Amino acid sequence: MDPATFDVVIVGGRPAGASLAARLGAAGLRVLIVERATFPSAPAVSAPFLLPHALALVDEVGVDEAAYTVDTPQLRSFVLELAGYFRSVLAFDAGVAGRSYFYTVDRAQLDHALWRSLAAWPSVTAWSDAHVEDLLRDEGGRVVGVTGRRGGDRLEARARAVIGADGRFSLVARKVDARVTEERSDVATTLYYDLWDGVADYEPGGPPIAHIHSSCDGFSFVFMPTSRGRTIVLAQGRADAYEALAGAPDAIYEGLLRARPRLWRRLHGARRSGELAGMKRVGNLFREPGGPGWALCGDAYHQKDSIDAQGIYDALLGAKELAAQVVRWHRGRLRRVDLRRLQADVRRDHAPPRPRDLLGAPARRRQDADAVDAHQPRLRPPLRRPRHPPARPRRLPHPAPRPLPRRRRRPPAPPPAPPRRRPHRRPAGVTCPLGHEHRAPAALRRGRPITWPSGQ
Ligand SMILES: Cc1cc2nc3c(=O)[nH]c(=O)nc-3n(C[C@H](O)[C@H](O)[C@H](O)COP(=O)(O)OP(=O)(O)OC[C@H]3O[C@@H](n4cnc5c(N)ncnc54)[C@H](O)[C@@H]3O)c2cc1C
Repeated sequence: MDPATFDVVIVGGRPAGASLAARLGAAGLRVLIVERATFPSAPAVSAPFLLPHALALVDEVGVDEAAYTVDTPQLRSFVLELAGYFRSVLAFDAGVAGRSYFYTVDRAQLDHALWRSLAAWPSVTAWSDAHVEDLLRDEGGRVVGVTGRRGGDRLEARARAVIGADGRFSLVARKVDARVTEERSDVATTLYYDLWDGVADYEPGGPPIAHIHSSCDGFSFVFMPTSRGRTIVLAQGRADAYEALAGAPDAIYEGLLRARPRLWRRLHGARRSGELAGMKRVGNLFREPGGPGWALCGDAYHQKDSIDAQGIYDALLGAKELAAQVVRWHRGRLRRVDLRRLQADVRRDHAPPRPRDLLGAPARRRQDADAVDAHQPRLRPPLRRPRHPPARPRRLPHPAPRPLPRRRRRPPAPPPAPPRRRPHRRPAGVTCPLGHEHRAPAALRRGRPITWPSGQ
């Protein structure tokens, strides 16, 4: 075999790319994964909660939770505040996808753990510090490989398929001219965040908690306890509201926090790392998922406002769905990757979880019959309610109250009878000796004899 020929080349080695490579490697495909960064490193912008659904998908690719949560607190509840009007604490008590906690994950740790895990799959070749610059095509225009640089050397690799898992500014998507099939830019968010040391507890002495505060004026703030005792403090707002503020991003960020005493109190005495990061007008879009010889995965395919904390989950889930199709195609069970079905699966499964999914009700979960193979631990089944027969009622120590007598239902009222017409009778009367007509007394009318004046 030509060493530079693979079944699949993946561009990008973070959640989407690395988990896809692991799933394909587990199925025995020869994979080259190319990442321009070196690990450990975090992406330029990312301040992520990793919710239980996403943690379960990381389990599936064989990465141990302990490998990416060093010195990172488990979070067991959110507090949601709407200015001073409303406050609600939402606990993960019931457990979701096998866990009753989540993390503000340190991306450098997570991405490094995913990358390291690729060493377990002998058919996967992982190159970091390698930059893909262009795609190779055959005479028919089909994508058949990549070119670029690795260190000072030229990089060229051929494959049956090239998958762009190279993030929201995807080179692969640009090179193949992938169409944007759906876009929402009317509700764009702009956000900035920094890491802080020494942020005061939400409740003095209380457990670490994710604190989400909306000030009901187009801005919201998230305090995310993360590794090494630090807290990511994120200020996000409607892009137009942000852009209306004058000044440098750094001053705007701190000004927004200072203007909210409820939040600023927590930052009194805390120190910023001084590495403000952020993103303007975070997009929400779907691109077409693939074409001849290429496919997209993760943010390269589908990107969204970070407010719903779903990007990594979607990247991991999309990789799982794409891997299932690529494996079937590779094994000859599909003539080609069914992009329509893939798109339908992704759109269905990438719907954000409903609050009841996050907070205890059984999570919606699809077990893909073709998920790569038995090497991989399956997603734990969602928690079910106990199915025991209901316990027999205990006898009450006191006589049970007598049931109330059942109210007898009155028969429906008969329709009102038509008014009875009395036979017309001439008023019985007598004529008095003075010649006046008088109504006859009842006795007379009953037929008794009567004299006038009575008794006479
Ligand atoms: C501020 C912010 C907060 C967020 N919060 C959350 C959250 O709370 N929870 C959550 O789940 N998600 C969150 N996200 C989203 C999440 O970060 C992304 O959805 C996720 O990183 C997508 O993973 P990916 O593997 O598709 O792409 P990326 O993580 O972007 O990785 C792409 C990789 O491709 C590499 N690459 C690019 N081009 C090339 C090339 N030409 N050659 C070689 N390599 C290349 C890059 O170096 C990069 O490492 C947030 C995002 C932002 C911006």
